[in-house]
Amino acid sequence: MPSDSNDFTSSRRTINRRGLFALGGGVAAATTLSMVSRAPSAWAGPSADADVIVIGAGLAGMVATTELVAAGRRVLLLDQEPEQSLGGQAHWSLGGLFFIDSVEQRLAGIKDSFDLARADWFRTAGWDRGPDDIHGEDYWGKRWAESYLQFAAGEKQSWLRGLGMNWVPVVGWAERGQADGGIGNSVPRFHITMGTGPGVVEPFEKLVRVAAGKSITFKFRHQVDELVVTNGAISGVRGTVLEPSGAARGTPSSRTKVGEFEFRAAQVIVTSGGIGANHELVRRNWPARLGKAPAHMITGVPAHVDGRMLAIGESAGARLVNRDRMWHYTEGLKNYAPIWPGHGIRVLGAPSSMWFDAEGRPLPAPGIPSVDTLGTLDLIMKTGYDYSWFVLNKKIISKEFTLSGSEQNPELTGKDLVAYLANRALTDVPAPVKAFMDKGEDFVIADTVPELAAGMNKLVGKDLIQADALRDEIGRRDSELGNPNSTDPRIVAIRRSRDYIGDNLVRTTEPHPILAPDAGPLIAIRMNILTRKTLGGLQTDLSGRVLNAQGEPVHGLYAAGEVAGFGGGGVHGYRSLEGTFLGGCLFSGRQTGRGAAKDGA
Ligand SMILES: Cc1cc2nc3c(=O)[nH]c(=O)nc-3n(C[C@H](O)[C@H](O)[C@H](O)COP(=O)(O)OP(=O)(O)OC[C@H]3O[C@@H](n4cnc5c(N)ncnc54)[C@H](O)[C@@H]3O)c2cc1C
Repeated sequence: MPSDSNDFTSSRRTINRRGLFALGGGVAAATTLSMVSRAPSAWAGPSADADVIVIGAGLAGMVATTELVAAGRRVLLLDQEPEQSLGGQAHWSLGGLFFIDSVEQRLAGIKDSFDLARADWFRTAGWDRGPDDIHGEDYWGKRWAESYLQFAAGEKQSWLRGLGMNWVPVVGWAERGQADGGIGNSVPRFHITMGTGPGVVEPFEKLVRVAAGKSITFKFRHQVDELVVTNGAISGVRGTVLEPSGAARGTPSSRTKVGEFEFRAAQVIVTSGGIGANHELVRRNWPARLGKAPAHMITGVPAHVDGRMLAIGESAGARLVNRDRMWHYTEGLKNYAPIWPGHGIRVLGAPSSMWFDAEGRPLPAPGIPSVDTLGTLDLIMKTGYDYSWFVLNKKIISKEFTLSGSEQNPELTGKDLVAYLANRALTDVPAPVKAFMDKGEDFVIADTVPELAAGMNKLVGKDLIQADALRDEIGRRDSELGNPNSTDPRIVAIRRSRDYIGDNLVRTTEPHPILAPDAGPLIAIRMNILTRKTLGGLQTDLSGRVLNAQGEPVHGLYAAGEVAGFGGGGVHGYRSLEGTFLGGCLFSGRQTGRGAAKDGA
């Protein structure tokens, strides 16, 4: 049974199209197929293949499935990838989670509260598409945000702790904005999970594996191409059985078709992820407010993040909202050892690196590492180039560079906190960062500014950087360090960071001149635009029911995770406070699993 070769267990009622082709040849199979698709549907009910079909075995799909199983439902969990990619993007993630007023925050003396976080979130989201009009694109996203904030300030941490998760005691300060009450996190809230992404996936993977063959039937290499609608309600899915694949996790698997399938259920949950690997879709939906889409981008997600299910959902009547809202990073390094096509790694920097445009002009605020992702993207897009430069030195890179991704953080992924903290506290360059310095094509390392400028020009093949101007700019910044009342936003950002004990200990270097001879060599890094997250998606209500253009539920259809804009088609509005994507999958997966279980009772 080749199409079942990737299953944990085979379904009693599988329609195995490859079997049909093998037995009867193409014509006979085609006849049988059309008979099947014309069959009057009471596809739900006793003849169904499952109570609920879940499309996508990433984090959101697994969480929804565990809720359904807990409620006594039979689930068919489909994924186009092979079994070894179970967990989707979350496996590769850094495992950063947004909590409000957590144990770790309190231990560090960080004063957080629901009200503060809500104010930060709402300012940062900037909803402006009918947030209070039930037909508005932002209506449900805003409501999901209210709910999610309560979850993040309430049971989120104790629920996850109860599942065996815990976090690095030093809370990170991502997306901090400027100290002007504008967008961003006014306090640190980014909690890196011990075990990074795999540590987030682990408890849910255990739960679904335990139920495999009982309440859950897995079908890997099953790519959904269509949602079947019968009498105005979802009644199942159709798709392509892909050939078995031994592709390593995260590497592209073949799309060679070996059969077709059709499964029946009265409820279908779509948890298929975003669009980040599909540059064509990213470009087509690129927001006009950010000008023309970059000609060159690198890719922050595996190839399966292809966005196909969004259009498939629309064809079944779903409303797709906020399609021009995306979360791409501006500090992307080309991976010298790519896992997926165009693989880029995001640098989570701290404020000491200087940020220059392609012609060597310093970026104005908010172009400061860790401050404002989309604000910086906007600045870079206005330069007419699709890359920018970090200029720093060895002392800064040693302490201030964290590379996002489970494979780039071996100590944390291996849950070895002592080794991690020792590595961060000592001034040595962490091994994954050193590997990029040695092998990464975006790096220029030099002892003097003229050599650095020459290396930068050589890398891009144009003389865009003038060594004298570069030295003047670095000197200007360095001399500001001597002014205790400096209003230079870069210096203010460093001081603000150093005032927070967590950053002071492990993230932000003591202020020093970039040109200090004992802090070198000098380093310049070409930073690429890196695609990652999708903030818009299928519009859902608070039970995860997918809505149509009239705001009515598409009967039987649900969505969670990134494909649903992490809830409601846009829980973040325009911008995220970070750590909210995994959290969004956990919360929307949970709510939607529970919602579907309740509706199906
Ligand atoms: C390197 C990296 C670092 C990250 N770090 C963080 C972090 O620290 N904090 C944070 O909050 N977020 C982080 N994220 C983002 C977060 O991991 C993702 O947004 C989240 O995991 C998405 O989960 P999902 O379940 O919605 O989708 P996915 O993980 O994309 O899973 C979707 C699944 O659906 C399957 N699928 C798609 N279409 C079909 C189809 N037609 N038929 C069958 N199957 C289909 C796919 O094969 C896939 O397995 C990071 C992401 C990456 C890549």
